[in-house]
Amino acid sequence: MIKVGINGYGTIGKRVAEAVQLQDDMEIVGVVKTKPTYEIKGALDAGFPVFASTKSKIAFFEEKGVTISGITEDLVNLADIIIDCTPGKLGVNNMEMYKQSGTKAIWQGGEKHAPIGVSFNALTNYSSSINQDYVRVVSCNTTGLSRTLYPILSKYNIDNVQAVMVRRSGDPKDSDRGPINSIEPVLTVPSHHGPDVQTVIADLNIQTMAVKVPTTIMHVHCIIAELDREPDVEEIISLWEATPRVNLLEGFLRNKDLKIRNLPGTAEIMELARDSSYTRGDLNQIAVWKDGIHGLDNKLYYYQAIHQESDVIPENIDAIRAMFNLESDNLKSIDKTNKALGIN
Ligand code: NAD
Repeated sequence: MIKVGINGYGTIGKRVAEAVQLQDDMEIVGVVKTKPTYEIKGALDAGFPVFASTKSKIAFFEEKGVTISGITEDLVNLADIIIDCTPGKLGVNNMEMYKQSGTKAIWQGGEKHAPIGVSFNALTNYSSSINQDYVRVVSCNTTGLSRTLYPILSKYNIDNVQAVMVRRSGDPKDSDRGPINSIEPVLTVPSHHGPDVQTVIADLNIQTMAVKVPTTIMHVHCIIAELDREPDVEEIISLWEATPRVNLLEGFLRNKDLKIRNLPGTAEIMELARDSSYTRGDLNQIAVWKDGIHGLDNKLYYYQAIHQESDVIPENIDAIRAMFNLESDNLKSIDKTNKALGIN
């Protein structure tokens, strides 16, 4: 059993902790919290030992009736691996602490690739993380782009990809994020997403732009991939149907007489996730609108939706397996993780 500690118990940290507990080859030995806010409830209910981020915080937890098992350094010493889910650009400051105790670590997509050196996507480059000590699971957007672009490479050469990320402004719990009545473009072009995909699919020619919109539940990507020949849409659909963690959904249901709204947008997609047996009403899979896939000349056009809170969760589990070489075959690890999490 691999002993896993979580540093940073927010949107991503709590979900990774719950996913680890559902595997038979790893277990949670503790989670680090900075303060005894409402988000500690899930950890206490699950029986996860809680560690305070620093010694000075212990009294605050105890005043609120929370038993503390130690501080961050104690958890780092106890664990075989730390999943660092602290806010982006902060996590990498913890690298020295992990190195000093000889503990492996995984960071999230808010960190840059360079200081960590290995970026991870289970489908595209699992083997690069085998036996590695420090790995970064790429962001929710990069995970989504990688999961649908990579399978195309098995049948086509991709000359170029251009994509626009329509990004949610914050997670549903983030009442302090915005905008609430504006659309904000990322004025640097290309946005960081394209270069980030190249950390897990080397040599892919991709440029991205991004806008932030007032919604919390999902991102949407509008993607144009220029291929070496005219795309056969049915063939592309078959490729994605065979790809784990990609779900094809119908925006509209049509027969010769009728066209009715089915899953035309992210609101309905997340309602379907809540209707299904997914943990927390999450959707770990990338949702691609089947009726939005089109080929024009050599270009493939498609739209996909990303549940930003959860698509990277199974990736963290597979990254742990790769780093301890518990499984050398990426598809076997993906399958094992998916079965444990109920992802179909
Ligand atoms: P979050 O703000 O929901 O959670 C971060 C947690 O870390 C909070 O509980 C915070 O109190 C805690 N924290 C802050 N400083 C800490 C410290 N010094 N020690 C321990 N804990 C500390 O953030 P999140 O959305 O879970 O993001 C975490 C990482 O995951 C970031 O790199 C982010 O870019 C990445 N990510 C986020 C999403 C998303 O949509 N939320 C998706 C994919 C990847």
